[in-house]
Amino acid sequence: MRLERPGPAIPRSSGSRGQTRVLRLQGSALTGTRATCSAGSLRGARVLVTGASTGIGEQLAYCYARLGAQVVITARRENVLQQVARRCAQLGAQKALYVTGDMATTSDPSRVVKFAVDELGGLDYLVLNHIGRYSFSPWSGDVHHVRGLMEVNFLSYVQLASAALPSLEKSKGSIVVVSSLLGEFPTPFTAPYTATKFAVNGFFCTLQHELAMRSSDVSLTISILGLVDTESAMEKVRVVPYPAGEAALHVVRAGSLRQKESFYPWYTHLVCLGPGGAGERPLGGVRELRELWELWGWWKGALGLR
Ligand code: NAP
Repeated sequence: MRLERPGPAIPRSSGSRGQTRVLRLQGSALTGTRATCSAGSLRGARVLVTGASTGIGEQLAYCYARLGAQVVITARRENVLQQVARRCAQLGAQKALYVTGDMATTSDPSRVVKFAVDELGGLDYLVLNHIGRYSFSPWSGDVHHVRGLMEVNFLSYVQLASAALPSLEKSKGSIVVVSSLLGEFPTPFTAPYTATKFAVNGFFCTLQHELAMRSSDVSLTISILGLVDTESAMEKVRVVPYPAGEAALHVVRAGSLRQKESFYPWYTHLVCLGPGGAGERPLGGVRELRELWELWGWWKGALGLR
């Protein structure tokens, strides 16, 4: 399905390796009608966003659209994708295409990438964001569910990245992985989801090393998010979350700046720095300890503990 804006696409310059592209974005770029981008580096960029029918993925699609990118979005529900693609075209996307795909199957990840590469004539950004459904509850012993979630949340990410890498190498492009604090810091009641996010972080952190070791021009950004106000997240916990639009903007910016890691909201970084976090670095001082204490209060609320 194709929804195009008139006017020629502006191809993204191949750029030099390690080049920092200045991109200044404001919250209104997502939530209002005004797109604010000082350098326009994403104008004409060829972007594939997965899990873009709802939640953060939908907001990511709107963010890239406002910045004048060429966007392919994917998820399973065609009627919803159709509406999101139409909105992307209205917001300023040079192209807004959608392709349905079920990431629980082994054939769809590569088919979706092929569609994007064929339709856009290459790829600059692969944004891996989709997740399968899971509940916030003690693990019931259901191995089948864990296996299925691993397929959707992890193995399809590997397949998508593998299929897209040749195009991304050519364009000196970027992989952006939307991940979770729960992939760094396990908490109760999320075992299957947490396992998939640990797998994602482990795989893509390793790939970061290997890309660097072979002097690849492909950048890989892992965005660690905390609780964000998407419908599926709000079904699970009842605490004040951070806005999905801002989270999406954060992810787009981090990918555009070719950052290795990014953290949203602020406390996710702090948690990852602490003991038990992937960083394994000692806490810096009293301020950090106080913030950690506040964070613990927040988690107690989230988990309904006294
Ligand atoms: P969401 O609202 O549940 O959206 C999930 C997306 O994935 C939907 O577009 C859904 O569309 C798609 N999807 C589900 N199963 C699929 C399948 N089998 N094949 C293809 N697409 C499928 O999720 P979200 O809350 O926006 O989260 C997005 C990302 O942010 C995830 O990687 C998540 O781990 C991360 N994150 C979220 C939070 C949060 O609080 N929301 C916190 C930390 C990290 P269809 O149903 O149409 O297929």
